[in-house]
Amino acid sequence: MHGHRGDNDRDSCVDITSCIAGYRGKPVVSASTRICKGLTCILGPNGSGKTTLLKTIAGLLDPIEGAVLIDGLNMSLINVVERAKIVGIHLSQIPTLPLFKVRDVVLLGRTPRAGLFFTEEDMAYVEEAIKRTRIEDLSEAYFNQLSDGQKRRVMIAMALSRKPRVLLLDEPTSFLDPFNRRKIFEILKEVSREIPVILSTHDIDLAAIFCDTIYYIDRGVLRKMESLQELGKIYGEGDTILDPFTLKLEPVIPKSDRSIHILGGCGSGTLYLRKAGSRYSVTTGPLYPNDLDAIVLKRLGAVVITTADDDPVENAIEHIKRAELLVVIDTPDYCKPPEARLLVKEASSMGKRLVHVDPASLGIADLL
Ligand code: ADP
Repeated sequence: MHGHRGDNDRDSCVDITSCIAGYRGKPVVSASTRICKGLTCILGPNGSGKTTLLKTIAGLLDPIEGAVLIDGLNMSLINVVERAKIVGIHLSQIPTLPLFKVRDVVLLGRTPRAGLFFTEEDMAYVEEAIKRTRIEDLSEAYFNQLSDGQKRRVMIAMALSRKPRVLLLDEPTSFLDPFNRRKIFEILKEVSREIPVILSTHDIDLAAIFCDTIYYIDRGVLRKMESLQELGKIYGEGDTILDPFTLKLEPVIPKSDRSIHILGGCGSGTLYLRKAGSRYSVTTGPLYPNDLDAIVLKRLGAVVITTADDDPVENAIEHIKRAELLVVIDTPDYCKPPEARLLVKEASSMGKRLVHVDPASLGIADLL
């Protein structure tokens, strides 16, 4: 309800002060940070402590040490109704609610703020929450008859109808299809323009696109991610990068004394690497300077030679000599500068190990 002045109209912040979260004196995760407006994502493998931390922030679990303050209020020291007014939380389970229509479920979430009876004002907040989560068309449907993606949105509406100062969600996109995952992130992004939204997730691609701040739990410690390159490390993989074209996280090409040289162009080299991967360093070129491969492979950590460089042919020959394998993707002529085509001939006469790749096998023949 825009323009309405309530007690939640200030910008709220969550202060996690030297906090150790865990069960019966046994620590699971320690954290110390301040989280304000925006979409904040917490990543980490199963069992790393994401749920434990969210429950502690919500005041459902008392910290072993330290405290969680929301707008200065200690979540362990206030009563359950006050806490419920401040925090909207959706834990990962979806309840079974037979007999309830969607609007009733959303109204249930309003309970901590309502008096003996629901007023018009309560109903207005319910309608607003329904609108923000884009479930207007479902409001008269029975909750139990909805799809999982729809139920998730209803649960978010339920958490929002009380107009919380902070919204917490534990894996709100688990078990959803890619379309519904994205929709949930879009809705939460919108909500996070007004209040802090903190969620745990395994959707690292979506987190990389949508989240303003990403944290990850590294051996029991909550750490802020400074660069997307750290993402892969969380799950024990190498460095990663967000491919600007596909918006997918791609592994960064490793640094190695051994290398392969790729001659593709028009993005075919990137697709080849995505399919085949490489344990070795990658060199490529000569390519046209504005070629898709030249741009993306450089970002992924390859040595890229373009026709704008000095002596591109000699330079490429040096790389090909050192490479263990030359991969030639048989793209149309316009994808490779004349220098590259010349090189293929030379490399064959050098006796270099060479493989030809049909672009059709990369699924891009139609695009070229
Ligand atoms: P995540 O949400 O990252 O998958 P959790 O926070 O659920 O991780 O679990 C973190 C650790 O805390 C796990 O080792 C788990 O076994 C433990 N744990 C979770 N709930 C309880 C509980 N109620 N009592 C004791 N230990 C628990």
